Amino acid sequence: MPELPEVETTRLGLLPQVGGRSIIAVKVRDRRLRWPIPRDLERRLLGSKVSTISRRGKYLLWHLGEGFLLTHLGMSGSLRVVSDSAPPTRHDHVDLTFENGKVIRYTDPRRFGAMLWIDGPRQQHPLLDSLGPEPLSAEFDGEHLFRASRGRTVSVKEFIMNSRVVVGVGNIYASESLFLAGIRPTRAAGKLSMQQYQSLAAAISATLERAIRAGGSSLRDYVQASGELGYFQVDASCYDREGLACRRCNGTIKAIRQGQRSTYFCPGCQK
Ligand code: ZN
Repeated sequence: MPELPEVETTRLGLLPQVGGRSIIAVKVRDRRLRWPIPRDLERRLLGSKVSTISRRGKYLLWHLGEGFLLTHLGMSGSLRVVSDSAPPTRHDHVDLTFENGKVIRYTDPRRFGAMLWIDGPRQQHPLLDSLGPEPLSAEFDGEHLFRASRGRTVSVKEFIMNSRVVVGVGNIYASESLFLAGIRPTRAAGKLSMQQYQSLAAAISATLERAIRAGGSSLRDYVQASGELGYFQVDASCYDREGLACRRCNGTIKAIRQGQRSTYFCPGCQK
């Protein structure tokens, strides 16, 4: 599943291709995404210029005059630059053609992604208005986590994966950040100290920044449209390492299930 670092890398890859350019053709082959692509999307997009692309959580917002094109990659979506002669395959649902000849193609085999139009203030859109702070912004720190967690009995791992608390902390990054901070994923969120949340907030930011940097190295391929955006699993400390030796204490990494997701941790390093 594309996570925040993949979405940010997509944004950074798209921006130089389409920033300041107008859309001259829109081809929608299949409207059945997580929500149907609106019937009037073609009319809204045609002739409008992308002033910039911003990101909120895992949503990309294409700034187009007064409104915004909102895209989400869902479980299996990708946005790639293709040549206009590249024949579409079964899962290529939308093509946006720009005045400079670039074609941005939206591909999504499982169709859980989204492509919607937002009129007016984006902060009030129902998909965006209850999102917590960005994990790489100044608003996000240990104090925010500490305050939001008081009285909460949910596990700290599920707590940091809740997008109302902080956006963009997916399963891999939650396990990795808790390892880095030395916190057991099963601990009740409301029982952790301010100091623990300060370590955890720093670990979350560092883990995501590292993944974005690793993603940057795939940007060249991306711009050349020679492949899909991959997952940036920069040698994980604990994720997907059940039964292997902990790189820090040489103990054994354990796997458990939490809220239908796999969690990996080191019982020796995480208390
Ligand atoms: Zn360990």
